[in-house]
Amino acid sequence: MFKYLADYGSAPLYIKDGKGCYLYDSFGRKYIDFVAGWCVGNVGWKRKEIIEAIKKEATEGVYIPAFLRSKKWEELANLLCKIAPGKMHRAFRCTSGSEAVDYAIRCARAATKKITIVSIDDVYHGYTYGAASVGDAYKRITGPVVPGFVKLPIPNQNNYQQVIKRFEDLVKKGDVAAFLSEPVWSNAGVFIPPKEFYPAIQKICRKYDVLLIMDEVATGFGRCGKLFASELWNLKPDMMCLAKGLTGGYGAAGALLTTEEVFQKARGIPAYSTFGWAYIETAAMLANVKLILKEKLWENSEKIGGYMLEQLKELESHSKVKEARGVGLLLGIELREPVATKILLKCGLRGLIIADTDNGHLFLSPPLILDKQTANKGVAIIKKAFGGL
Ligand code: PLP
Repeated sequence: MFKYLADYGSAPLYIKDGKGCYLYDSFGRKYIDFVAGWCVGNVGWKRKEIIEAIKKEATEGVYIPAFLRSKKWEELANLLCKIAPGKMHRAFRCTSGSEAVDYAIRCARAATKKITIVSIDDVYHGYTYGAASVGDAYKRITGPVVPGFVKLPIPNQNNYQQVIKRFEDLVKKGDVAAFLSEPVWSNAGVFIPPKEFYPAIQKICRKYDVLLIMDEVATGFGRCGKLFASELWNLKPDMMCLAKGLTGGYGAAGALLTTEEVFQKARGIPAYSTFGWAYIETAAMLANVKLILKEKLWENSEKIGGYMLEQLKELESHSKVKEARGVGLLLGIELREPVATKILLKCGLRGLIIADTDNGHLFLSPPLILDKQTANKGVAIIKKAFGGL
């Protein structure tokens, strides 16, 4: 346990270095990294293109917070709006995913003059009060939480029609500003919506003038086999929350993208963060996003992710495994019994880092540069960890 850091439950592993899909601890032990900082290090660790950009900016650039502008902000905002699905036209500078979600809530209310935000229960959107209130973290923070949120259950093949109907019924009451959700529910244990779900939600949003906000903090930047997971369902959101893979772990930043219409209607909402897109972060984001585009990392994510899922599905014959599921390199293993910690430890001892979710599923989000050989090695370690359980 940390003696001085006010942190909570982290694994007792002191990581000293990383390269590509590998991490090295303070004893020099090497680990395959199947987590990538939880959907962060999509391009892999210590990429020279990004490090060079950071070094250059640190030597040649300067960051003056407050009221002065940077051309690089404009370049990044333009690039993000261009590559995002929908008609994104504006980017708010944020320091994290939680902040992007908070901005989205405020923009939605300001633009529509309505209050209610409908979201999915038992999924995570961040720990600030707004983000916690829209996600499941409201259950873990000291209340009262922000009012005006209605939660629907995670839709599955059996209940999705009822969930859609409940959404439409809520919307018909007239006070719904937005539907805010991840395209794939990552932190809840990688739940993938039935293919009919999002097209129906989008249709209802359009029909009743309700905003569609996609939280792509975890699923964005190639994670789910598309540049953005919204593309899986052909969604054209009105707003999009970004962070994590946006910097690739080379800085701390987030973004909220909005259409011009939303921006104009919400114009004047107070939005300011001293370190929003600080200069090193901005250089890192530009280099990172360009690298993802150059290497088309979503293609490898789809290919290797599909391959890994096939291998992991073999675990479904094990008595402790309910289901292996995933899309691209966002993969989860649902367990029948609480053995996640044991599996994590066994994997760690054999040189593989994997994670578990708050509700006890195994969670894998390797760097998108993962090759087949390393994928095989990691999967073999997971399979071995189930042996004797
Ligand atoms: N939204 C999703 C889907 C997330 O997974 C997270 C973080 O795990 C957040 C929002 C919050 O992002 P941050 O930790 O950068 O505040």
